[in-house]
Amino acid sequence: MHRFVALLTLASFASAVGLDDHPPVVDPGRAGSPPSDAIVLFDGTNLDEWSTTDGKPAQWEVEEGAMIVRGGSIISRRQFKDAQIHIEFATPRLAGGGGQASGNSGVYIQGRYEIQVLNSFENETYPDGQCAAIYGQHPPLVNASRPPGEWQSYDIIFRAPSFDPHGKKIEPGRVTVFHNGVLVHEHAELAGVTGGATSPESAQPGPIYLQDHGDPVRFRNIWIRPLAEGPARVVP
Ligand code: MG
Repeated sequence: MHRFVALLTLASFASAVGLDDHPPVVDPGRAGSPPSDAIVLFDGTNLDEWSTTDGKPAQWEVEEGAMIVRGGSIISRRQFKDAQIHIEFATPRLAGGGGQASGNSGVYIQGRYEIQVLNSFENETYPDGQCAAIYGQHPPLVNASRPPGEWQSYDIIFRAPSFDPHGKKIEPGRVTVFHNGVLVHEHAELAGVTGGATSPESAQPGPIYLQDHGDPVRFRNIWIRPLAEGPARVVP
């Protein structure tokens, strides 16, 4: 009897707080493949989802399932606000000079906030400029870098800043980043755009911008899941 009452109570509590709403089913795919509800921006075959910053077809080389930096930075044709982003990269095996001259590129969220790409495996530079840094703002919590030539990953959860109707920022953007599955930023506050941003901070969506810093960095397996504002609900 007591058990029955407890169940009833639990059931009414569940409905009051929405605990009986079934989350959407997402097929996570096999390890290394995108989940079923992701928008795939690069699957290793073509650059259809990418352009130059002035809207012309992207000219990076596509080879063995990867795109290779050359001839200018590129942007995704799609723009987004809050999002989960997955991207894999490899700095060149012959990584050039030391410091910032070693496998430099960058993943700019919304074209505004750079998550640094650099060879930071046994290669020192200033902390807020090393691999996985939010460039010039936050060094990564740890250095989880793999050696040059090896594939690495970023998994990014981005929350765009909020603005009042006059365009005044009322809530900063925030970002959580895993580098090779290791937490390197947890809900880090974005002070503003980073150097080389393609547009000022605003309520407008923006693309993913991949930086040409003169090094033949490779990228592959890029996908995005736009998120609704607020708690991490998936955009229907
Ligand atoms: Mg860079």
